[in-house]
Amino acid sequence: MADGAPQGLRYPWPEPPEFGTAIEVADGVLWFRLPLPMKLDHVNIYALDDGDSWTVIDTGFDTGKTRKLWQQMLDGPLGGKPVGRVIVTHHHPDHIGLAGWFQTEHGAELVTTRAAWLTARMLTLDEQATPLPETLAFYRSLGMGPEIYEKRAAERPFNFADVVAPLPLGYTRIQQDQTIRIGGRTWDIHMGNGHAPEHATFWSRDDNLVLAGDQILSSISPNVGVHATEPMADPIGEWLEACERLEPLARPDHLVLGGHKLPFTGLPTRMRQLIDNHHGALKRLLAYIDTPKSATECYAPLFKRKIGEAEYGLAMVEAFAHLSHLHQTGLATRTRRDDGAWVFQQA
Ligand SMILES: [Zn+2]
Repeated sequence: MADGAPQGLRYPWPEPPEFGTAIEVADGVLWFRLPLPMKLDHVNIYALDDGDSWTVIDTGFDTGKTRKLWQQMLDGPLGGKPVGRVIVTHHHPDHIGLAGWFQTEHGAELVTTRAAWLTARMLTLDEQATPLPETLAFYRSLGMGPEIYEKRAAERPFNFADVVAPLPLGYTRIQQDQTIRIGGRTWDIHMGNGHAPEHATFWSRDDNLVLAGDQILSSISPNVGVHATEPMADPIGEWLEACERLEPLARPDHLVLGGHKLPFTGLPTRMRQLIDNHHGALKRLLAYIDTPKSATECYAPLFKRKIGEAEYGLAMVEAFAHLSHLHQTGLATRTRRDDGAWVFQQA
């Protein structure tokens, strides 16, 4: 969900690095960008100097273009020193895409959460030529428009395997309340949730750095959606729980290195905004469902812009997540409409 230009944040680098080049954001910490072929057109990558090797945070999609850029980065700013370890914040393909390639081709260790590893490995193996009946039923239950539905039903769906390299067996698990040494610093590990299950964030004990993945972003609020895999999930509840748990850790001088957009300071303000944005959205949504409405009929109160086809899917799962949260917290009822859509109304 976009929420305009947040107030009270500072961006020490107003421009991101060019593809293939780095900006040193702290001693031994390099910030890179890799392209994504979507509306959100980039992902941030960080490389931390471990002396005789690099630890890389997230990897980008596995495409010919990103592999080539990685080679450029390895030969250039990374100075030919090997990548010994890849730490993946969460299972989404823009973050885990090349982890398996680093393991197989570069002998790197993969470090991530159990939920991230299991989910990514399951999804890379679950290749589908056409959408499964469960997926189509889920689309109908969200009230997907007939034109988009017919189109989606006939085409090859987005497959993890298309942009994620095969993950070999074996990874190192990280968990809540552990610490990890990266780049000459000791980091506290705190799990986020809601955008992705068991999403790792890293908080330096030795300086002001936070590696936040997509749990905390500066100028967009991370997508929080329900998917066919778990239709009764309540990721909004999980998101709020995680943000409220992380909020007390935030300091104004923290330099937040997130998965997208620009590094920033002003984290206490941003944590409050991330929480308040969803409370505001839930309030507007509850007022809007004075008559029964499906997820796709609820874009107006949630998104302050027109939703095009490129964003339709993300908007749909996010609208459903908010409606389902109202339902699961007793504020709304839901009934099945004749076309199969769940429609929600103020309780
Ligand atoms: Zn991402």
